Amino acid sequence: MIRKCPKCGYPNPDTLDRCFQCGAELVAKPPPAPPIRVRTNPQRQPAFQTELSPLTTFAAVLILIGVGAIFYYAFLFDVTVPVEVSEFIPTGRVNNIGLMNERLIGIICGFGSTFIGIILAIVDAVSAGLKPRRDSSP
Ligand SMILES: [Zn+2]
Repeated sequence: MIRKCPKCGYPNPDTLDRCFQCGAELVAKPPPAPPIRVRTNPQRQPAFQTELSPLTTFAAVLILIGVGAIFYYAFLFDVTVPVEVSEFIPTGRVNNIGLMNERLIGIICGFGSTFIGIILAIVDAVSAGLKPRRDSSP
């Protein structure tokens, strides 16, 4: 086989990589290989667990609901009802026993929800601390 020089047209034997006459390269350079992407090991667990566990998330929701209920029923919940303005009731509003009872129940439920949430969060944190670390295995 004879390779013609692309530059000067000199017929070179195909044992040569460069033109015998002008020195131009006869072998077309292969396209550069695509860069090898080094994949990090996907199995490896992060050193720190950044995501909240479902139980901790549930506990946080319980605490939020509980605290919100406490504030709502203790400070914002109106237990008065309008009545006819009279000599004895100049403001025209009196406390309603049923609404006062409702507020009390709301506050108690708020504390209960907060308490259960805190207990769940503690239990979850303690059980997570007792588990063997995942990243300690070789
Ligand atoms: Zn040549």
